[in-house]
Amino acid sequence: MKFSEFKLSPGVFESVEAMGFEEPSPVQEQVIPIALEKKDLIACAQTGTGKTAAYLLPLMNHLEENKSDKIKGLILAPTRELVLQIDQQFQGFAYFSGLESVAIYGGNDSAIWEQQRVAIERGTNVLVASPGRLLAHINLGYVDLSDLEYLILDEADKMLDMGFVDDINKIISFLPKNKPRQTMLFSATMPSKIRVLSNTLLKNPTEISIEVSKPAEGVLQAAYLTYDGQKNKLISHLLAEKELDSVIIFSSTKIKVKELVKELQQAKFPAKAIHSDLVQAEREEVMRDFRNKKFPILVATDILSRGIDVDNIGLVINYDVPQDPPDYVHRVGRTARAKTTGVALTFINEADQARFANIEKLIEAEIFKIPNPAEIGDGPAYDPQAPSKKRHFKKQGNRKGNFQHKKKAGPYKGNRKPRTSNK
Ligand code: ADP
Ligand code: MG
Repeated sequence: MKFSEFKLSPGVFESVEAMGFEEPSPVQEQVIPIALEKKDLIACAQTGTGKTAAYLLPLMNHLEENKSDKIKGLILAPTRELVLQIDQQFQGFAYFSGLESVAIYGGNDSAIWEQQRVAIERGTNVLVASPGRLLAHINLGYVDLSDLEYLILDEADKMLDMGFVDDINKIISFLPKNKPRQTMLFSATMPSKIRVLSNTLLKNPTEISIEVSKPAEGVLQAAYLTYDGQKNKLISHLLAEKELDSVIIFSSTKIKVKELVKELQQAKFPAKAIHSDLVQAEREEVMRDFRNKKFPILVATDILSRGIDVDNIGLVINYDVPQDPPDYVHRVGRTARAKTTGVALTFINEADQARFANIEKLIEAEIFKIPNPAEIGDGPAYDPQAPSKKRHFKKQGNRKGNFQHKKKAGPYKGNRKPRTSNK
């Protein structure tokens, strides 16, 4: 599915394109159409699945259709970091529509308090706020919420865990009583206290729940930190060690797949490649021979990672970190099918570290980094947060004066694929 299939206003749609989002994530696919109809909803999906855009885009769409300088939207989130992240994403999406948001979060800095006060009084379209701090501003009397039409509770489970329920209810008591309001609740988990909150807050909500995708239990996952120049040596080392059964080596690009299979063949490893340059009949032949154990090593692009069922693959090697975190789950899922055990090893170069950290976030597990064998030598240190490795959107200019913050590279790199397929 494409973002163009939603009925988004031109300003919002353009900003989605500018952000480099190509396809909606599953939660976006389900939430956006319902949210665009101004219906209440509750959505449960794990971290990194793109929940922010799922509510921001419809919200901004509504706001763009009915422009006003009153505060019409309120997004509540538990922590300062989240508030800033959401506000940042709002600004990214607001580039073409000119909509504005103000971030309200706690802290001891009186200059920030003053900035927040001034920004609220100057007026804005949306407040992105942590409950405690917003309530403190509300209590001083200058927050006008009388036109509020859209309320979003993000990370609702966390807000309840942090004891914000009274603050939230208090804030809601300041919202207009006789005005229709759309309320949306987002959460990574669905404990019963979320249901209670949802019952009191939402009117006939649609419930959306996205299945957790995680590799099967039996997969032993680990990773090596390598420079690109070390990868081929490490592959040879790993393959030479093993009694070769069935091994799949994944790489993101067909160029790499072709190079690697050539090297392996030169080193006398029985390997073949499968990628999109082969015609269907050739692919089928390679797959058939691999399945029938005529050769043990298959080098493949992601065309193979989804769905194809090959029994008893003992080892999956990710020659690079997949572009798309769910692809990791698919690749690794090739091993340990039907309750057998398997091993999945991923090579992480410096540039892939941030992406790998996103995968760890998606599967909610930290993957063990195996020290390189002595003959390969040390690889780069693991520091996925290092600024040079972060990929963030470059915005031109900063329309928010003092409200400057860095975008955090988040986990769902989902469909931010290269424009032309190189698989
Ligand atoms: P969640 O709130 O579910 O934890 P976020 O909304 O923070 O997830 O999204 C995680 C990351 O994925 C962010 O960096 C966001 O920019 C990115 N992202 C979200 N939706 C898409 C998409 N459709 N295509 C590409 N990247 C996306
Ligand atoms: Mg979120």
